Amino acid sequence: MYSVSELYIPQTLGEALAYLSEHPDTRPLAGGTDVLVQMRAKRLEDVRLMSLEKLPELTGIRCREDGVVEIGALTTFTQLAASETVAQRAPMLRTAALAMGGPQIQNRATIGGNVCNGATSADSAPGLFALDAVLVLQSAAGERRVPITEFYSGPGRVKRDPKELLLHIELPAAAPRHGDCYLKFSTRKAMDLALIGCAAACEIGEDGAVSKAAIALGVAAPTPIRASEAEAFLTGRKPGLEDLEEAGRLALQSASPRSSWRASKEYREQLIRTLAKRAFRAAYESAGGVL
Ligand SMILES: Cc1cc2nc3c(=O)[nH]c(=O)nc-3n(C[C@H](O)[C@H](O)[C@H](O)COP(=O)(O)OP(=O)(O)OC[C@H]3O[C@@H](n4cnc5c(N)ncnc54)[C@H](O)[C@@H]3O)c2cc1C
Repeated sequence: MYSVSELYIPQTLGEALAYLSEHPDTRPLAGGTDVLVQMRAKRLEDVRLMSLEKLPELTGIRCREDGVVEIGALTTFTQLAASETVAQRAPMLRTAALAMGGPQIQNRATIGGNVCNGATSADSAPGLFALDAVLVLQSAAGERRVPITEFYSGPGRVKRDPKELLLHIELPAAAPRHGDCYLKFSTRKAMDLALIGCAAACEIGEDGAVSKAAIALGVAAPTPIRASEAEAFLTGRKPGLEDLEEAGRLALQSASPRSSWRASKEYREQLIRTLAKRAFRAAYESAGGVL
């Protein structure tokens, strides 16, 4: 059923990168919840797999002294949801982790696989976009840092060189008054992909106005996107309900949703307006803002 030409299990990062250099057709294997589905459906055949399971450089969640949080690529969604560090810096990633798949999938699936798979429906993507996350990739030639907002190139496609591994994801330090929110709208409460996923992050300055507004959407376009018109509108304001309505309308300007068997374009447009408004409101309020 599964057609594998080779399974290589490197014991060190150096071995892994050397192997990738020599065999750029290799498919890194993390939790396998995307790769094995593709193999079973015969979209991947005669595949050369390299398991990442023995590489400690890709594991763990830590908060550095400068406030930057590093999330190892092999962090499972269960680990993400259980992390105190994540709960403090970015509670919406915890929400996203618990909203993806179901417990069995959360136990296997990794955040690195979720990003490198390139799906616009990836539950971690809107939160990582809204937080301006930076991806740290490494090949035998050296390290490369890429803002996640520049990593996706199309449906199921990312700008990862085949010789690179994603090591970890960095979340920049937050301002003292910050809040965030992830809302996933799906037909079922578990084991279902988002019809639209929306993340918002908000920072409030000393004057009480929004100093940073971020709204990111999944499934609103071929790749996850930021709603930059809405963000520009909200920045510098002490928003009221009318402003949130306007931000929801503006979020649509960045989006290009399509109809699929899951939902029509028009339904997704309504979701984008509504979720952008609600997610930003929740982020603003959790940052201490009062409407
Ligand atoms: C039943 C089911 C339900 C699901 N529900 C959801 C859901 O609700 N939400 C959601 O977002 N996803 C869902 N998924 C999709 C999947 O579980 C996620 O995308 C998951 O995060 C993939 O992680 P993984 O570790 O299993 O990746 P893998 O399958 O191991 O790899 C995925 C891709 O990333 C590459 N890769 C993995 N790690 C690295 C690395 N460190 N460096 C370079 N490349 C790497 C692999 O080569 C492959 O191309 C579901 C899948 C299943 C089977």
